[in-house]
Amino acid sequence: MASRYPSAWMDELRSRSDIVQVVSGYVSLKKNGRKHWGLCPFHGEKTASFSVDGEHQLFYCFGCKAGGDVIHFVMEIERLSFPEAVQLLAERAHMAMPEMENDADYEMRRSRRERMYAANREAARFYHEMLFRPEGREVLSYLRDRRGLSDGVIRKFGLGAAPEEWSRLTDHLLNQGFTLEELAGAGLTVVKTPETDSGKIHSFDMFRHRAMFPIIDMYKNVIAFGGRNLDKQEPKYLNTADTPVFNKRKGVYAANLLRQQRHLDRVVLVEGYMDVVSLAQFGVEGVCATLGTALTPEQAQLLRRFAPMVYLGYDGDSAGQNAILRGLEIFEKEGVPVRVLDFPDGLDPDEFVRRDGAEGFRKLPVLTPAAYRLRRLRAESDLSSPDGRIAFAREAARILAPLDPVERETHLRSLSVETGFSREILMEQIQSVKPPEETDAVPRRPAVKTPRSPEAGQAPVSEDIRAQEMLLSLLASGQIPKDIVEEKDFGDDELKSIYANLLAGMSPAALVSAAPDDASRSRFTRILLTPAARDTDEMIAMARDCVNRIRRTALEKRLKELSDQVDRLSGDEASAAMKEAQEISMQLNRYA
Ligand SMILES: [Zn+2]
Repeated sequence: MASRYPSAWMDELRSRSDIVQVVSGYVSLKKNGRKHWGLCPFHGEKTASFSVDGEHQLFYCFGCKAGGDVIHFVMEIERLSFPEAVQLLAERAHMAMPEMENDADYEMRRSRRERMYAANREAARFYHEMLFRPEGREVLSYLRDRRGLSDGVIRKFGLGAAPEEWSRLTDHLLNQGFTLEELAGAGLTVVKTPETDSGKIHSFDMFRHRAMFPIIDMYKNVIAFGGRNLDKQEPKYLNTADTPVFNKRKGVYAANLLRQQRHLDRVVLVEGYMDVVSLAQFGVEGVCATLGTALTPEQAQLLRRFAPMVYLGYDGDSAGQNAILRGLEIFEKEGVPVRVLDFPDGLDPDEFVRRDGAEGFRKLPVLTPAAYRLRRLRAESDLSSPDGRIAFAREAARILAPLDPVERETHLRSLSVETGFSREILMEQIQSVKPPEETDAVPRRPAVKTPRSPEAGQAPVSEDIRAQEMLLSLLASGQIPKDIVEEKDFGDDELKSIYANLLAGMSPAALVSAAPDDASRSRFTRILLTPAARDTDEMIAMARDCVNRIRRTALEKRLKELSDQVDRLSGDEASAAMKEAQEISMQLNRYA
């Protein structure tokens, strides 16, 4: 998307938006060496591993690997899209927005989406207004009297009422200048095309006689609606089908509020919109719900952006409990730390918070995934018979097998008491459990165990690659002679492309901004941070060191190839190989 802005304008924007100044508005920074350091705003930490590099205009967290230029920082911290972050920085720098580079196709898609946002926004306003009119009396009484919602929370969530008539909303929006095609596209209106040419086109409102929950994304766009029925009408909840602005697998309900709630230490994921609203009314922060489908990996990843951990607050019924098991697997697979809220007496979140309030909610027991699975297993087992205890111990061993020793130990003790088996026997049983990859019954160990820990999820980097990366960071400083290094010194395509772009005069910040995805951006940033060197002389010495190491490694590798081949070669080929080997040995002396 970056390319939609003229690059000269972007350079100007970056040069007027000093990253140290911008970050200082959010994080208190201390200078140490060539960088500024502070507590990372993107993951919970007690020692500063978040660095801001004023020289190369980059930020990088050595804890959670968040990194990028000033625009990415603003995107992450304000949870803005790229164009929104650019606009915010432009306003801050008192720069006028540029003429966007022409792209008719992009413009058409953009304006179509804009129209849908506008139609949805107007629909939300309409439904909300109806709620306080005679047409919405029944819905209002449902929300106020049956669900006990205050007018404050009704307004906060923009709840509304869809009238009973067939096309009240459609007529209203047509009057506002929207077309039937736009309304059908946004999922607000159902259009039935006639079977014969002479037939009239029928259109009617998608939602009628329902309590309306607008679904608002983190950028405050109304993207869809959920409508709850008031009578026996099925389904109980009707959701907008997917549209160009709404994908129910990717978003969550109340994302707009999550984004405003800073420094959450956990997000609570519940099943229903009403649970979210009700918990909010009682002052519980950071609550959201899936959009009428089971949890998806995309939603698990989205939630990680708001807090370091997710609490599952699903209903106590069997559907809710099975959804917890599925949810745990998804979060673990995605490497997102997760816990289960343990509501007493089979209450659902809404019932519980009404009974015990926010204070009770804060004190709710929280179960680790293993503790939850063990409890389920225990409830389903017959511990009064020897056979039942054996079966229980076997299954429990499968649950405990993937755990780390500390967590395992806490469960082993109670398991020993419950089953009568000694700790040693139980350990043996655990060790006999096949690795989780080979069985389907046991939930998989998270792909990334602790996602926010240092170096998590990254393959170890060889010394050779480290030297190449260091060399690029030195080159980016612009203080070492370019002729001491060549393109062939870089082993992989990504590093080669960074080299070529630096040589072409691209700034580290612009390079990072052009990275194709999050993982590359994190890597580019880490590579391009200002090296920890005192002065130019030290930088040049470091660069020569790196070049020597890289070339020595390459020569050693070639030498090994030759010595592996030489036995199989004969005649001229053999002597050529010998000759090359000798030359390499000579050259290696230079880099010793
Ligand atoms: Zn971090």
